[in-house]
Amino acid sequence: MSDPIVNVDSTPDPVDTHRVCFDCCVAPLLKQVVVREGQPATCSLCGASNAPCVDTGNHEFLLAIKALIRYHFGEWEYHSKLGDGSIEELFFRDPNPFLKINPQQSAIDREDIVMSCVYDIVNRAPQISIITAFGRDIYNYAPMTPVASAGSAILFEARKALKERNHFLVEAEYIDQLRPIVPYITETLRAGTRWHRARQGIKKRSASITHAGAPLDYAYQPHDKVDIGAPPIVIASAGRANRPGVSYLYLASDLATAAAEIRPHPGELVSVGNFELVRDLRVADIRAHDLTKLWRSDGELELLELIATIEDVFSTAAPPSNRSTYTVTQFLAEILRQLGFDGIVFRSTVGDGYNLVIFDPSAADWVEGSSKVIDVKRVTYETVDRPLFDPMAHYDFTFEH
Ligand SMILES: [Zn+2]
Repeated sequence: MSDPIVNVDSTPDPVDTHRVCFDCCVAPLLKQVVVREGQPATCSLCGASNAPCVDTGNHEFLLAIKALIRYHFGEWEYHSKLGDGSIEELFFRDPNPFLKINPQQSAIDREDIVMSCVYDIVNRAPQISIITAFGRDIYNYAPMTPVASAGSAILFEARKALKERNHFLVEAEYIDQLRPIVPYITETLRAGTRWHRARQGIKKRSASITHAGAPLDYAYQPHDKVDIGAPPIVIASAGRANRPGVSYLYLASDLATAAAEIRPHPGELVSVGNFELVRDLRVADIRAHDLTKLWRSDGELELLELIATIEDVFSTAAPPSNRSTYTVTQFLAEILRQLGFDGIVFRSTVGDGYNLVIFDPSAADWVEGSSKVIDVKRVTYETVDRPLFDPMAHYDFTFEH
């Protein structure tokens, strides 16, 4: 461990340490440390007196700062041998996930506070590493990527393996790697909870002639019961969680999400209705990974990254032109099923709500009288501009489409 990246000659004298209050901490993880460890003192950032404050040399505080660095930043952003940035510079970004910037405070005073813990961030709390390697050794390792960017190597490898070997062989290999995340994603959905489901089209429509030439006022009969339920196995096509020939029941948290999930076109009629859980379900909830639950070591951050990656693949839209992305979600769903879950809850890519997929469709019953027919008036799209190719620029990679 030669050639440390921070130019600090020795551990700062303890009298140089500072204190920060609950309000000056940004991330919930740091606020929790203040709640647990705080002692009445004067905050070095905002000057609040007699406020619960945590010392910047506190072990829990340092560990939380390291977890936040790993969560939010790539190593190239703060390791001076890999880029222009430094750890102290991260604290001056506005906003940053660590400490609020007090506009009344001079940059020099802030720097004093930040510098009081930078040495400790690098050298203490070894449970979390933020530097891959020092000196020339750095060229032998891939820099650390932010946990939040959801790039778990486990899924990267699995994706590759699924292109080369039968899915059941790969599943058998990965089930043990996914097992440790089970306690962190387990949720129970209670019997009686109602969910929404939609199906394109209706059963029939009728109208009577009231006046000669007058437009007809139709009455619609929606698809309901088994007609709107999980498809019969013989016609079940591939879905986000199921392979062809496997019939899962896909439900949504609200009507609009259920309707959006079947991608209707404007002008199309859609049948909607409710299903009710007939028993408690143990589901894998992959809607929101939580840094405040998994942060105390490299191992825990790795699990968090895996959960974030699973969340990311489930909530990435799969356009009809590229349904091969389903391979990984189907693989994950199968492993989660084998790990004892009854279903999966995940964010919708097309609606504001979330989805529930149930592996055994008989776990939910149709709710009598919940039928409705809706007419799709408009479909809205959210777009982002991508940078344009510059014919004068040099690029390391080019992929023809
Ligand atoms: Zn403060």
